[in-house]
Amino acid sequence: MSSADVLKLMKDEDVAYLDIRFVDPRGRMLHVTIINDLVDEDFLEEGFMFDGSSVPGWKGIEASDMKLIFDLDSVYIDPFYAERTLAIHASIVEPDTNEPYERDPRGTAEKAEAYLKSTGIGDVSYFGPEAEFFVFDNVKFSDKINKVSFEVDSEEAAWNSDTDYDTGNTGHRPGVKGHYFAMNPMDANQDMRSEMLTTMKDMGMKVDKHHTEVASAQHELGLIFSSLTKQADEIMKYKYVIRNVADAYGKTATFMPKPVKGDNGTGMHVNMSIWKDGKPLFAGDKYADLSQEALWFIGGILKHAKTLNAFTNPSTNSYKRLIPGFEAPVLRAYSARNRSGCIRIPWTESPKAKRVEARFPDPSANPYLCFAALLMAGLDGIKNKIDPGPASDKDLYDLPPEELEGIPTVCASLREALDSLAADHDFLLAGDVFTKDQIMAYINLKWEEVYAYEHTPHPIEYAMYYSC
Ligand code: GLU
Ligand code: MG
Ligand code: MG
Repeated sequence: MSSADVLKLMKDEDVAYLDIRFVDPRGRMLHVTIINDLVDEDFLEEGFMFDGSSVPGWKGIEASDMKLIFDLDSVYIDPFYAERTLAIHASIVEPDTNEPYERDPRGTAEKAEAYLKSTGIGDVSYFGPEAEFFVFDNVKFSDKINKVSFEVDSEEAAWNSDTDYDTGNTGHRPGVKGHYFAMNPMDANQDMRSEMLTTMKDMGMKVDKHHTEVASAQHELGLIFSSLTKQADEIMKYKYVIRNVADAYGKTATFMPKPVKGDNGTGMHVNMSIWKDGKPLFAGDKYADLSQEALWFIGGILKHAKTLNAFTNPSTNSYKRLIPGFEAPVLRAYSARNRSGCIRIPWTESPKAKRVEARFPDPSANPYLCFAALLMAGLDGIKNKIDPGPASDKDLYDLPPEELEGIPTVCASLREALDSLAADHDFLLAGDVFTKDQIMAYINLKWEEVYAYEHTPHPIEYAMYYSC
């Protein structure tokens, strides 16, 4: 779209406000709302100055000026505001040079796309994220979580205890597991999910399906694949719509990776492919009909997985999901079949649909940094011909200890992931996609969460140690 097109759209749609949206390093969407009188061609082309010093992880108070520049193709009418409002996504530049601000995640995503082209390996990378989420009743959520967290001996008892806060039927409720693709009335949220998906469709998003997931109260909606930065924008919109529609239903949606002990966690599997000259680079005649490049791409991701964890699994809670037994991976292995390794190659007959699925990411990730880091690790694999080794087609959860030996794992904590990022990040610096300053600032920001977590006595510690 040109700026004239955006202005025409604002006029035709009787838009009262332009809502500028951008994303901080932690992956939170921020916005500032501009009255329509101010929005003309100059405004849309020159950008909007703001003070970045109050955003955690960005500039200090002494150098706080930043400029938002607009992606004119990203506009959509916001479906939740009472006043007619056009939303637009923005990246951040230095006001004096107009160079991308190095700590802006959206700028990093754009640089990763440009870097792919500059290598000659491919023209475009496609990303198909599958972000799951839980929906809880607004009131009962904290009560249930507290009960499950405190319960040491019997999770069953926690869910069925007679101190349950439910006021309705206390005789029967669905079990903790087994709700994948559930029908109503066990699936009580069909209408809510349909409203979420329809809202996304009306905003111009490419969506395909929705369903319940394996855990109780867990759901997933389907986004069609798209290019890297655009898809990261879509994930921000996806979360925004889900949270707001859930809110309208008196519920709360959460993307935290492991909200309930003893049940499946919340993943954001990321399906990836690269295309060159209009052809899929990942289709070939090697293992699982992959190309040699795709195998090297997998090699790069498995090699750098512990560093990637800092971006793909960036919360202290992420590591409560990455444990055996809940369809989330622990081992750095790949397979066409089983879902217990870090990388799966989904079955498809079509070379165009040939893709690699990274299963370890979760939706607490900043999608711009997550997708950019995954692409950089995969490209490092292709450039350096990193062999991923043989595929692991067994269920890795059930391997005997002697067979597990030698298979490397993902990180076990955010602390470990940040240490890995500090030690291994040269592949991210190629083409100045990430910068050292950005990586160090990100590590410092995330250490705050590690400290907060490690310094706080946990409820379970009272249960285990109060009377020790
Ligand atoms: N919820 C699982 C996870 O934590 C994934 C389930 C699935 O395969 O969709 O990754
Ligand atoms: Mg799923
Ligand atoms: Mg999947």
